[in-house]
Amino acid sequence: MTTFETQHWPNLIGGKALDGSGSAAERISPGHAQIAARYVSASKADVDAAVAAARREFDTGSWPRMSGAERAAVLRRVASRIEQEVDALALIETVESGKPISQARDEVRGAAGIWHYAAGLAQQTYGDAHNALGEGFLAMVVKEPVGVVGVITPWNFPLLIVSQKLPFALAAGCTTVIKPSDMTPGTTTRLVQILHEEGLPPGAANLVHGGGDVGQWLAEHPGTDMTTFTGSTRVGKSVARAAADSLKKVSLELGGKNPQVVFADADLDAALEKVVFGAYFNQGECCNAGSRLLVHQDVAEEFTQRVVQRTHDVVVGDPLDEATKVGALISEHHLGVVTDYVALGEREGATIATGGQRLDAPVGRYFQPTVLTGVPKAARVAREEIFGPVLSVVTFSDLAEAVEITNATGYGLSAGVWSRDIGTAMSYAQATRAGTVWVNCYMEGFPEVCFGGYGASGIGRELGRTACDEFSEQKSIVVRTGAPLPKWVN
Ligand code: NAD
Repeated sequence: MTTFETQHWPNLIGGKALDGSGSAAERISPGHAQIAARYVSASKADVDAAVAAARREFDTGSWPRMSGAERAAVLRRVASRIEQEVDALALIETVESGKPISQARDEVRGAAGIWHYAAGLAQQTYGDAHNALGEGFLAMVVKEPVGVVGVITPWNFPLLIVSQKLPFALAAGCTTVIKPSDMTPGTTTRLVQILHEEGLPPGAANLVHGGGDVGQWLAEHPGTDMTTFTGSTRVGKSVARAAADSLKKVSLELGGKNPQVVFADADLDAALEKVVFGAYFNQGECCNAGSRLLVHQDVAEEFTQRVVQRTHDVVVGDPLDEATKVGALISEHHLGVVTDYVALGEREGATIATGGQRLDAPVGRYFQPTVLTGVPKAARVAREEIFGPVLSVVTFSDLAEAVEITNATGYGLSAGVWSRDIGTAMSYAQATRAGTVWVNCYMEGFPEVCFGGYGASGIGRELGRTACDEFSEQKSIVVRTGAPLPKWVN
């Protein structure tokens, strides 16, 4: 059996590595049923201490007062360290989450690329000047860091997702308190350690461990100015409510039920590869999973058969095996949720064309890549996020119906469209209520291109050249340079 060392992850508060004063926890690796990590959760008092450390640094420390160039230098060094530690970070990610090791390495490299990009943005903080306000007035609009930011992240791409938030918050001059998922505490802890090793003032990045209660204390905390959250739509709503009660800024990256739409004139070979990839990548535990295949009725039968065949080629198994494409599911509870959804699909009239079962493995929890065919477009398995390796196949007759089905879930994170006709592809892209539409490709991400959702998929945008704006306030400074001041009362 594969072995790896059990890690102990501390909380990091004001630069000090401490066990929390909450309860002790273990993370059992989903693929190997061995203890991957131990940590002690933060108590409410620990969260208070972490917020106080971030507040002190923001109010009186050096980080918000440094030049952009100085902040950029720290972020660049962190990017390089992530690159140097790809193998170690990928191993932690894989044993805690169950994802394939080859994929984890790509994600760590992707995270490093985001830190490099954010470093560039740290030197791009500038505003506007207005000199056409009439004689005697000049105004400027400057950007300032929003303050102390609570960063709450999920388990499915732990390092990548914190890297979509933290470097931009830091580049903007904010200070932070981070709470990773209780199931994947490792790479985020290592990242904050690297930040400190590379010269980030200790109070600028604090880290607390724990589950939903710790997340809730952070989201409700009156001492933070913003919460940036990635996770489920259900918890996102609660984070938004907490933000409303304490009146702070909030950004939310939530769930999705993303379609890949295949028209009859598409390059079907290319579409096939990406439909299979989109459905099963990261075990389907992916906000961007292409968990719905909308296929034109003229090619539906043949294309669906090919998807089923190709699904049989997907290697499922030990996450540490280089050949693995689909690893283990995150928890026993989640495996139950996925299993229940497949049963629901059958009751709703769908057919299990392949898969549908837990894989019979001596150790670890795996679910077979599954294709549900003949799914009625109103079925729950066609509209709700399953978050497992389950593809729901729905047919459509024309562009209008494809758009109607696409937009009928309430979610709006992403979509893919496959057609050789630029008019068809672009008409679909323009009519789709989603934050990202991929045309003849799927799940291609770049630090330069912003990411986020419509509707139940979230509020705000990450990445891209405006990424730091999410973590900024704008201040208008209006200057009377010589205009006469008329008397208000005589
Ligand atoms: P989750 O909502 O259960 O948990 C996310 C984080 O919130 C965790 O750190 C958790 O401990 C914390 N949390 C739980 N309850 C809380 C509360 N009441 N207040 C504050 N924090 C709380 O999500 P998950 O199961 O970890 O992740 C899966 C979900 O994340 C899926 O729905 C997926 O679509 C979504 N996701 C979205 C994106 C995106 O960019 N849009 C990316 C990845 C994952």
